[in-house]
Amino acid sequence: MYYDPLRITEAVRKIVVRNEEKFQLRKYYRFRGGRWYGGIATADSVGCNLRCKFCWSWKPRDNMGKYGHFYSPKEVYMRLTSIASRRGYRQLRVSGGEPTIGRRHLIQLLELFEKTSYLFILETNGILLGAFRDYAKEISRFKNVHVRVSLKGCTPEEFSKLTGANPEAFQLQLKALKNLLDFGVSMHPAVMLSFSSKESLERLTEELRRIDEELVEELEPEYVFLYPHVVKLMKKHGLKPRLAYSPNNIPEELI
Ligand code: SF4
Repeated sequence: MYYDPLRITEAVRKIVVRNEEKFQLRKYYRFRGGRWYGGIATADSVGCNLRCKFCWSWKPRDNMGKYGHFYSPKEVYMRLTSIASRRGYRQLRVSGGEPTIGRRHLIQLLELFEKTSYLFILETNGILLGAFRDYAKEISRFKNVHVRVSLKGCTPEEFSKLTGANPEAFQLQLKALKNLLDFGVSMHPAVMLSFSSKESLERLTEELRRIDEELVEELEPEYVFLYPHVVKLMKKHGLKPRLAYSPNNIPEELI
């Protein structure tokens, strides 16, 4: 039985987002520095509208009540800039769950970063940016934001197999790319390729080419990292990657 990610969004929002008079709070479970993107300060949010069977943050995703605390946009801003200035980073991001859940919170956060010279990387599955075109338009106001849309597989069938969601929702991920492009937002697509065949990648390439040739050139491949808790989740779902990385970054051919 498939689920609808937009309905999941509503249910998750009730748990991880809280409205105050002037701003919106969002739940986060961790703030950290790290080597990704050559050094970046990261806020890990709680809650997602997909249920990927290879998700590295599935514990907070599936236990939203138990993980994290509510933070205002200003508190998230302070934590991220403090990590970045201590470590000399120029980039910041929200990761962990899906950052676009809690739209007012995200926009208020981006407004704070707009006054700085940091680059904010918005890592998203694109579901809400595909479903709500005006959301992509709103993000286009911010010039120091780069959006990375992470596609969950190459085709609707793969998307559904990897996430358990309606195959039709894959179109929302592609639509996010189109919406962001239409509004001139700096962005690129990434795709989880650990479970994909050469043929399905070719199908995706064709889809992307239909939207914009540059998307094909900018497509970033993603592979699963075999952290013990990720291996446990994949095993539970009977999911076997063709290619994955060991936690110390060594590729492993598994099929
Ligand atoms: S979209 Fe990302 S955070 Fe959400 S379930 Fe998939 S891998 Fe996890």
